[in-house]
Amino acid sequence: MQIHIPTPLRPYAGKQPVVDIAAHTVAEALTALTIQFPELRKHLYTEQGKLRAFVNVYLNDEDIRYIDDRENAPVKESDSISIIPSIAGGLPTSIAPSQATALTPEEMSRYSRHLILPEVGETGQLKLKAARVLCIGAGGLGAPLTMYLAAAGVGTLGIVDFDVVEASNLHRQVIHGTNDVGRPKLDSAEDSLRAINPNVKIVKFETRLTSENALKIFKDFDIIADGTDNFPTRYLVNDACVLSGKPNVYASIFRFEGQASVFASEGGPCYRCLYPEPPPPGLVPSCAEGGVLGVLPGLLGIVQATEVIKLILGEGQPLVGRLLLVDTMAMRFRELKLHKNPECPACGVQPTVTRLIDYEQFCGLASKSVPPAPMLNGIPQMQVEDLKRRMDAGENLFLLDVREPYEFAIAQMGGHLIPLNDLPQRIRELDASRELVVHCKMGGRSQIAAEFLAKSGFKKVHNLAGGITAWSEKVDPKVPKY
Ligand SMILES: [Zn+2]
Repeated sequence: MQIHIPTPLRPYAGKQPVVDIAAHTVAEALTALTIQFPELRKHLYTEQGKLRAFVNVYLNDEDIRYIDDRENAPVKESDSISIIPSIAGGLPTSIAPSQATALTPEEMSRYSRHLILPEVGETGQLKLKAARVLCIGAGGLGAPLTMYLAAAGVGTLGIVDFDVVEASNLHRQVIHGTNDVGRPKLDSAEDSLRAINPNVKIVKFETRLTSENALKIFKDFDIIADGTDNFPTRYLVNDACVLSGKPNVYASIFRFEGQASVFASEGGPCYRCLYPEPPPPGLVPSCAEGGVLGVLPGLLGIVQATEVIKLILGEGQPLVGRLLLVDTMAMRFRELKLHKNPECPACGVQPTVTRLIDYEQFCGLASKSVPPAPMLNGIPQMQVEDLKRRMDAGENLFLLDVREPYEFAIAQMGGHLIPLNDLPQRIRELDASRELVVHCKMGGRSQIAAEFLAKSGFKKVHNLAGGITAWSEKVDPKVPKY
């Protein structure tokens, strides 16, 4: 039989997407797999030998949790097992068209190809016009999502984002152009969306979504589309959707693979039914570390836009109770069944999540166990292990490299290069609202740079203790030492 290995786990399985195993039961198959690839074991099982909570195992398209005998279920040669870890991503309530006024002649011609579809028609187009959709993030998924929703005539589009466009965003975030580098993503997105369809009302929330503001922001929207790339926000969006009774149109991406579903709709499962708990920090790499094929968020963002439009229209079969898996390398779309878990902490019979919690802490990212960083002349000294942990968690850190170009050519760790002496002239390339981590070779020049930035009004600046040398020694030996 075949076992499908997801991208994040392939490095521990000889880089193979599919492994052939001879076995009589699911348990036997998984045991044989971990014997063949011992490295996989710690990613799949806890030290007590239990399957980890963020790993789901499917026999064909069925979650083994819902199969009689679970791991002891018999398997045939023609069966396949899929391992589905979480990755760093009932009937719908359709919108009442009465809130929207009639279509103008301009709208009639703009949406004419919708109007002649019986499933949309004028009634459907008026529903779209009345609909209020909130997109979390104007990045890879948010770009195609908001562009197509604007083009389709969704009346109100809310966007939550506090990021600035960077050059490294442009290969996938097609809502932003080269000239937008350095601008807030919200402003750049607004310009693009207005150019596509000036009829759309755009509501900008230039903030990080938090437990304090989420329910207040969600209040004025009908559907939430999650385009985030980190676990704390994903759980926050899920729980806020469950608590406010709004559908959560979800997608996530990693390298060449994506997932999509519709969560928290009436009667359907939520994200926590699938993944009750997040993976420990560091075990699942982020896109910043693992990379992502530029078109992938395009594909998944359009799946999200399609689901949003179907929910608004009340037409078709939404991705409720189904997890769509997209593998662009094989160009294969698969689908797995999702069940509403009666014991789900968020949407189960006796939910324990009755209000929004501290999601950073829930995802193991709180600094509780980590002592506060030592300070030097008012600058926190970040350890390389901390930087690695926070990068893995997909945190929005900006890495500034203040070494010389020739050093950069020898070894680098993905920072934006501004040599120390050029910093005063080039300080405008930096965004004071971002959390900055400055590094050099050993930590001396970067300390001077960090102090200069702090004096220039930058409030969130860290110095990377030990610099790229410590990074090479303690985190990534592939980075050359010099
Ligand atoms: Zn649930």
